[in-house]
Amino acid sequence: MSVTLHIAAEQWRGRVRRYTENAAAAGVTVVPVAKGNGYGFGNAVLAAESARLGVATIAAGTYEEVPAVAAAFGGDVLVLTPWRPGPATPGDERVVHTVSRLEDLRGLAAGDTRPRVVVEVLTSMRRHGVAPGELDEVAKLIDAVRFEGFALHLPLTGDHTAEATALARQAFAAAPGAARTVWVSHLTPAHAATVGRDTGAEIRLRVATALWLGDRAGLAPKATVLDVHRVRRGETYGYRQRRCRRDGTLLVVAGGTAHGIAMQAPTAASTLRQRATALARGGLEAGGRALSPFRVAGRQRWFAEPPHMQCSMIWLPDGVTPPVVGDEVDVEVRFTTTAFDTLVWG
Ligand SMILES: *Cc1c(COP(=O)(O)O)cnc(C)c1O
Repeated sequence: MSVTLHIAAEQWRGRVRRYTENAAAAGVTVVPVAKGNGYGFGNAVLAAESARLGVATIAAGTYEEVPAVAAAFGGDVLVLTPWRPGPATPGDERVVHTVSRLEDLRGLAAGDTRPRVVVEVLTSMRRHGVAPGELDEVAKLIDAVRFEGFALHLPLTGDHTAEATALARQAFAAAPGAARTVWVSHLTPAHAATVGRDTGAEIRLRVATALWLGDRAGLAPKATVLDVHRVRRGETYGYRQRRCRRDGTLLVVAGGTAHGIAMQAPTAASTLRQRATALARGGLEAGGRALSPFRVAGRQRWFAEPPHMQCSMIWLPDGVTPPVVGDEVDVEVRFTTTAFDTLVWG
């Protein structure tokens, strides 16, 4: 009675392993990322899967996510959110901190804990990072911490291989004696390998979507049918007591706002078609009727009313044979915003 992610275990794990091994063959070390909702799997599952892969380091999104990740993964944990002065203790031997401001690096260098540190350099992404012009100052401080490389977070669109190469060269020129390691994001393994070759650096590729969700063929999100009610024209239903305009069937299916079903999230969709797809996955028009992400008898169906906390009411027109209670129907989800009740490994 739930929203379930069915995983074709062998197929999915095989794909994740091949991605990692192909990268390794090109000289690039994969650093799996486990953060947020764990891309639908949950962070503890992704951490355990990373342990199966045998990688040395995993990346967590925030300091708050570190305990759950570190409990299921015995290796090192890189924290992607930059370290800032505060209660987070920089002493943990397994935690590698990302430092993105000169003042923070100065603060850590002044202490006596010598934390493990990766210094992020600002890219055209402009999220976090020291400015390239500050690299000379960075170089003076890194001997006072355990410096483990430079980090570059790159945009998703376009090919940023040249940008990564140029920034890495600049960083190594400023700090010639430093660990020649670059932690990159959003390069293909092949492009990451090019950066490694052109800079003589060891490349660690922080990756989540392309690794965990790179092939969705083995992933089937499903929702259990909880109830089926035949309704007549003129009868009312739901919290809002709408009136049926025709005879039909109301399906009550697992999956509501608590699961992140049909929650409108910002989308980068720029074409009409992309927008229609995004709406189908997660959108609900304000007020009016909306196409639900649930697929019954081969078609996406309309919401009868906006989704409830743990379930949704779906309208099925006359003439469509309804499923029976206990059946599972397909549901389209955005993996980064969906909380599945259950994972079933098949
Ligand atoms: C989330 C994140 C990643 C992984 O992103 P995907 O696009 O899911 O592969 C990599 N690097 C950084 C800095 C991140 O915040």
